[in-house]
Amino acid sequence: MITLDTSLIDVLGLKAAKAFESKFDYRTVSDLLHHYPRRYYKRGDPRDSGGLEVGEHVTFYTEVVATRYVPTAGGRGGKGPKGRAIITLEVPTGTIDAIFWNQPWRVKQLEPGTKGLFAGVVASFNGKLQLNSPEIEVFSSVGLANTEGVSVTDPQRWQDRMMPIYPAKPKFPSGRIRQSVELIVDGLAPVEDPVSDAELKALGYVDLDTALRHKHLPITEKQWRAADERLKFQEALSIQLLLAKRRIEAASVPAIPRPRSTNGASAAFDKALPFERTAGQITVGEEIADDLSESHPMHRLLQGDVGSGKTLVALRAMLQVTDRGGQAALLAPTEVLAFQHARSIRAALGPLGSAGELDSVPDAVKIVTLTAGLSTARRREAMAQIASGEADIVIGTHALLEPNVQFADLGLVVVDEQHRFGVKQRDALRRKGTDGSIPHTLVMTATPIPRTVAITMFGELGVSVMSDMPPGRIPVATTLVPAGAKPAWVQRAWERVREEVAKGRQAYVVCPRIGLDEADDVDDADALTQDEQAAATDKKRPPIAALELGELLREGALQGLRIEVLHGRLAPDVKDRVMRQFADGEIDVLVATTVIEVGVDVPNATVMVVMDAERFGLSTLHQLRGRVGRGNDAGLCLLITEVPPYSPSVERLKALEASNDGFELAQLDLEQRREGDVLGVAQSGTRTHLKLLSLVRDGDTIAAARDYCDAVLRADPSLERHALLLDELVALEAEARSEYLEMG
Ligand code: ADP
Ligand code: MG
Repeated sequence: MITLDTSLIDVLGLKAAKAFESKFDYRTVSDLLHHYPRRYYKRGDPRDSGGLEVGEHVTFYTEVVATRYVPTAGGRGGKGPKGRAIITLEVPTGTIDAIFWNQPWRVKQLEPGTKGLFAGVVASFNGKLQLNSPEIEVFSSVGLANTEGVSVTDPQRWQDRMMPIYPAKPKFPSGRIRQSVELIVDGLAPVEDPVSDAELKALGYVDLDTALRHKHLPITEKQWRAADERLKFQEALSIQLLLAKRRIEAASVPAIPRPRSTNGASAAFDKALPFERTAGQITVGEEIADDLSESHPMHRLLQGDVGSGKTLVALRAMLQVTDRGGQAALLAPTEVLAFQHARSIRAALGPLGSAGELDSVPDAVKIVTLTAGLSTARRREAMAQIASGEADIVIGTHALLEPNVQFADLGLVVVDEQHRFGVKQRDALRRKGTDGSIPHTLVMTATPIPRTVAITMFGELGVSVMSDMPPGRIPVATTLVPAGAKPAWVQRAWERVREEVAKGRQAYVVCPRIGLDEADDVDDADALTQDEQAAATDKKRPPIAALELGELLREGALQGLRIEVLHGRLAPDVKDRVMRQFADGEIDVLVATTVIEVGVDVPNATVMVVMDAERFGLSTLHQLRGRVGRGNDAGLCLLITEVPPYSPSVERLKALEASNDGFELAQLDLEQRREGDVLGVAQSGTRTHLKLLSLVRDGDTIAAARDYCDAVLRADPSLERHALLLDELVALEAEARSEYLEMG
């Protein structure tokens, strides 16, 4: 009997098994059975019976009705007479000719009556449609059997069934995969399902055994569609099982509860707040305040679009903790952001943030910053204040993660911009809790992750969403500037910058690259991959570089304006100085890379010009434009691209003109790019496990799997009564551990 664990050698023989190993890295029956068909064909499939169009890729599952060979006049040479083998095929619309050049033997191979698959692109010749050199798979050959690359199959079997078409490799056609799968499925012992019959019934899924068989060898479309649903659920189950386990573990770890206080800095802060909190800030604030009161650690992901006011939410959480004697750390992805957070938190707290200083008030907290860029003396001082507990709120970068940074009583870790930090860094900070207790964690991201994705990727976190904005925000007007088609518009873009500066406003110019050689580094972890960039632009030139453009603008279009360049290779103190000068209005135009993407807040900046816009992801561009129009005036974002109009990348960018909704854009980004590239390092093996499941489209399935796993683990925490799920979990955990070890 064949099982999922059976080696392919035992079923297919050494030669075929070796071929699967070298081409696909498949070794077991399970490996091969998780190689799913890409699509299916049925004889006379109505999908192919509509009018054929030139350029359309079609596959006919049909029969040869006539053959002839037409020699080219006077043509001889090569292996035989030059000419065309014309194989006439019966198709739902009548007949179509398949043409093979200089292959007289095709006439014998494909005698009338031969049944098979013919796949190719519809072409037109002398007003008649034809297929040029289609790929073929012969099922019953009247004449020559099994020519190279042509497999011969039992035609009866496929008479009325769906024909699976597999993702193939050169010299390893779909038909060969199918034949091996047929062999395996015919002899496969029933596959056990980790989900019980009753549960399957309740969920509305077919069992795993049926699903696997029907996915590969369905008779009807309904069968493979039902199989798809069950197999997707299985993929979701794997991820959610691991996440549910982590949730339960997290809940069993101790944390020091830091309940709300009615007096102290929190109360004073709320009283002095110059505006009303938004509904989202209030709801999420309550969720967080509740979490902080628990005796197990909070793990909460806070999503809110650019400008939704996440900092305020974080600050209130920090004060709740410091009011209870704990310390709070805010971890920012860059020095610029760390210092900016420090500035804006100091500003928001006013006298409440100046403990130990002259103007201090009762209940005031002490804010300390720690970044790698500090002088040794200042760093020592900061570390001493952190260790003694004198520092209440600590704001910093990765430097906070270093082992020699010791907190007196770390109660809350706030991570700004989750996607820049891996699980590992988050864990490093969590380990800084006292006496085995773990600090509460709040992770904030402005990259709106669709909920379905969030519960998949961050399923062990609670997810809070702020979907409203502080009142009075005017959406950023966004315009695409086609530099190739309308060069004058680029000039106009620079004029707009000049006009804004003349009004006392400031501008950002964003470039995809730093420049002046050195490593051709980009600053953005979220930038499109090289492949995506190459696909997005057909231009060979390197992306526009900030340093070079800065020079050009100084001497050219923006002559006379105060221009500075900001990028990730600058020393931290230089970066901070430039940022501060910009914030203070001493710089008119900041030419930058995506270092300014997240969080930078200069309300006086009203216009942004993005160079080579097609090289950025939609979410990144949305973050970027969130930098302008933060004050009372509407912001303007000009996306310059040389890519021709109507090309896919320009169509993609048009979404930014049309929508100001970060969630919607993130969704589009996810649909258009590979999910892994958008989301960064996937957690818990999602890359290898997700074959059918889409994090974006299969939200319902993911939610069902999540509920199922929670229920199972609640009822049977050690999975004693769910042996198959336990096996799966053990395997997943081993895999997650090895991935974790590999992660930077
Ligand atoms: P983000 O979520 O992008 O980090 P910020 O926290 O930087 O947003 O907030 C953006 C701006 O909105 C800040 O200047 C902040 O002071 C202001 N803000 C936050 N909450 C409110 C509110 N409820 N009403 C008015 N302004 C607010
Ligand atoms: Mg922010």
